[in-house]
Amino acid sequence: MNPVAQSERLVAREVAATDAPDHALRPQRLEDFVGQEALRGNLRVFIEAAKGRGQALDHVLLFGPPGLGKTTLAQIIAKELGVGFRGTSGPVIARAGDLAALLTNLQPHDVLFIDEIHRLSPQVEEILYPAMEDFQLDLMIGEGPAARSVRIDLPPFTLIGATTRSGLITRPLRERFGIPLRLQFYEASELQAIIARAAAKLEMILTEDGAAEVARRARGTPRIAGRLLRRVRDFATVAGCKAVDARSADEALGRLEVDRLGFDAMDRKYLLLIAEHYAGGPVGVETLAAALAEQRDVIEEVIEPYLIQQGLLQRTPRGRMLTDGGYRHIGVAVPAGRQGDFLSVGAGDADEDA
Ligand code: ADP
Repeated sequence: MNPVAQSERLVAREVAATDAPDHALRPQRLEDFVGQEALRGNLRVFIEAAKGRGQALDHVLLFGPPGLGKTTLAQIIAKELGVGFRGTSGPVIARAGDLAALLTNLQPHDVLFIDEIHRLSPQVEEILYPAMEDFQLDLMIGEGPAARSVRIDLPPFTLIGATTRSGLITRPLRERFGIPLRLQFYEASELQAIIARAAAKLEMILTEDGAAEVARRARGTPRIAGRLLRRVRDFATVAGCKAVDARSADEALGRLEVDRLGFDAMDRKYLLLIAEHYAGGPVGVETLAAALAEQRDVIEEVIEPYLIQQGLLQRTPRGRMLTDGGYRHIGVAVPAGRQGDFLSVGAGDADEDA
């Protein structure tokens, strides 16, 4: 493996999804996909049933934060079904014609994967409804008085949609998916297994406690686990260290400013901001986004889910609030009388919480 080619994938999501070395790390079959037990068990039944009936699998909607394995699962589903796979994403399908071209090129029972499906335009979504329901495409040909609509029959296919924002999927679209599946953050033990497997594929010697150390800091997310593993490997290579154990992993991750719970400099900045400038909250997400010079989406999809899951932050109707654990994590004393603030109305800007 070439370590240089890997270093470029730290942040770029799209590149990570298509790069050859990353592809090598992706589990290929359902049995190699670690974790998400309940989801996997159900999926296996649905796949077997569809195959047994000789029909296309029902449409599948995958929910969950980035990096939990939605794309990987979609590819696995196609493999397990023994059908073709085509992948695209919501923002790429600009016009109805783009979607029509994709759909008419499918073979019977193929999987069409649309990532970020909440970002489809309303016009494209309209075209998708009859395609999903009746495998029919209604297209307008021509303009003005000469315009007419044509109906095209499509082969039966399986649409797999993925979204990080379940709240942003329109109800008519959501209702057309027969199989909605929600991915959960991974347990440390599951991440440890994923990391051990990835290390073997990267031909890297990693001790069990070394894998546990990386797993603990990977925020419950396989993509982050893979990324941290590669950086740890870089430090080990440069240090001329053959086997990576907990101590060398700890040292490398410390230098990357990833702390023992997997929080990084950005998380700490976010928590400190709420503690020091907004008295622990409630504070609206738009205010935080402006103060941190980040997109609201990044705050909501990348930074907050893990802070919430770890109990450091709460989303309330009036905005974000630090919990006592959040204060403890950044080493700031919980202000006296905070309980009162929490209950009173109008203590912060009462803006949005989608
Ligand atoms: P998403 O589409 O949800 O953003 P991906 O499917 O692209 O996530 O997964 C990100 C990375 O994590 C990929 O390199 C993939 O191989 C790895 N990965 C995700 N889930 C698992 C899993 N359950 N077991 C092993 N590796 C996984």
